[in-house]
Amino acid sequence: MADGLGVVIVGAGAAGTAAARTLRDQGYDGPVTVVTAEAGPPYNRTTVSKGLLKGQFDVDAIVLPQAATPDVAWRPVDPAMALDLDSRRLTLTTGTQLRWDALIITTGAAPRALSGPVEPAARKHILNLHTAADAQRLRSLGGLAESAAPPRRVALLGGGIVALEVAGVLHAAGAEVTMVTRTQASMSRHLGSIVGAWVAERHRRHIRYLAGTTVAQATLGGDGLRLELTDAQVRDVDIAVLAHGAEPAVAWLADSGLPATDGIAVDSRFRVHATPGVYAAGDVARVQDSDGRRRASGHWTLAVEQGKHAARTALFDLGVAAAEPEPFEAQPTFTSDAYGTRLTVVGHPDAATSETVIDGDPATHAFTVAGQDANGVIVSVVGVGPALTALRQKEAIRRGELLEHTTAE
Ligand SMILES: Cc1cc2nc3c(=O)[nH]c(=O)nc-3n(C[C@H](O)[C@H](O)[C@H](O)COP(=O)(O)OP(=O)(O)OC[C@H]3O[C@@H](n4cnc5c(N)ncnc54)[C@H](O)[C@@H]3O)c2cc1C
Repeated sequence: MADGLGVVIVGAGAAGTAAARTLRDQGYDGPVTVVTAEAGPPYNRTTVSKGLLKGQFDVDAIVLPQAATPDVAWRPVDPAMALDLDSRRLTLTTGTQLRWDALIITTGAAPRALSGPVEPAARKHILNLHTAADAQRLRSLGGLAESAAPPRRVALLGGGIVALEVAGVLHAAGAEVTMVTRTQASMSRHLGSIVGAWVAERHRRHIRYLAGTTVAQATLGGDGLRLELTDAQVRDVDIAVLAHGAEPAVAWLADSGLPATDGIAVDSRFRVHATPGVYAAGDVARVQDSDGRRRASGHWTLAVEQGKHAARTALFDLGVAAAEPEPFEAQPTFTSDAYGTRLTVVGHPDAATSETVIDGDPATHAFTVAGQDANGVIVSVVGVGPALTALRQKEAIRRGELLEHTTAE
C-alpha cells in the first residue's frame, strides 16, 4: 500500500460503495475508509419499500457486491459528526478522528420530519421508511410479519413514489390504508401530470386517498393515533408512515464552514466548490443538470454513477489517474410499481412544460408519455405497463432531440 492518509468516504450507500469500488478498480493502493451510520454491510436501499417490506427476502439477500471490495476499512454504526476542513480531520461519533488526502461525502438524504405538533406519546406510532431496519419495524407494526398482529389501519403521509409503493404492499396485505398528501403535484413532479392523474385514479380504487390536506396535529387517543388534518378531517389509525420526502443529510456539517443548507453544491466532476480534496455525490450533492437546475440524484443508478465519477475525479486530483474525467452527464432511469403495474421513468418529468402520449391509451394500463420542454425537446418519458417504448427514448433524451423527430418512424 502507498503511504499517505488515503481516501475517506462518508456514507456507504449507492454513491459511497460505488466510489470505494472505483478507487480499487482504478488501481488506487492507498488506504480507503468508509464510515456509515447504519449497522451491517451496505445494502440496496431501493428494496426497502418493495421486496424487503413484502418479506420476499431479508437483508442478507440485498447486500451490495461492493461490500467485498478488497482492502476497504468499513466503519459501520459510527456516523460522522464534525468536519475540520483546515486540518483535514473528520470526527466520528465514537471520537475517532480520520484524516484524508481526499474526502468523498455521500451521506444521502434523511427522511423529512412531520412539521405539525406531535404529542410525545404519539411519536412511537409514527414511523420512517428509509432503512432496512425501518422496513422490519413497519413489517411487524403494520401486520406484515408472520408473528405480527393482523393487518392494521395505516396512514401514509406523503404522495410520492415511496408512498405509492408502500400503499401497494400494505393494501395487498389487507391493511386499511389512508394516504394523506398535501397536493397531487408531488406525483406529477415525479411522473408528469398524465401519469400522475392515472396513479391518483389507481389510489382511489385501492385505498382511501386524501389529497390537498396534511396533518395539523397528531395525538394518542383511546382509538390509537389520532391525526387531525388541515381540512378538519380526523383519522384514527394504528400507525402512520412518513413518506413525504427527504432532505440532504448534512446536519453533521453544521459547524464545518461547508455551505450545505440545501445539499452540497458540486461542479460537473463532483468537486465541492473552493474546497480542494473534497467531493460530494449522490443524494447529498447538488450537481447542475443540462437544463441549468441543481438537483439531487434522487435515484439509485444515478447515485452509483455519481459516486464512480467523484472517485475518478479524486484519483486524477491525487495524481493516480492521468486523465481527468469528462463532465458528468447521465439521465436518471428508475422503475416502480403501482398496484401491480410497472412504471418506467427516464429523464426529468419535472422539466417538461408539455406532454404527449406516444404509445397506448391512458384509459388502460399500457401507455407511454413523453415530456418536452418549451422548445419541443424531449426531456422525459414515462411508461405505464410495458417499458420498451420508454427505454428506447433514452438516447433521444441524452442527445436533446426534438420530440417530433424521435416519434416519427
Ligand atoms: C424506501 C426507498 C425506496 C427507494 N426506491 C428507489 C427505486 O426504486 N429506484 C431508485 O432509483 N431509487 C430509489 N430510492 C432512492 C435511492 O435509494 C437513493 O436515491 C440512493 O440510495 C441515493 O444514494 P446515496 O448514496 O446518495 O445515499 P444512500 O444510498 O441513502 O446512502 C447514504 C449513506 O450515508 C450514511 N450516512 C448518513 N449520514 C451519515 C453520517 N453522518 N455519517 C456517516 N454515514 C452517514 C447512511 O448510513 C448510508 O450508508 C429509494 C429510496 C428509499 C428511501
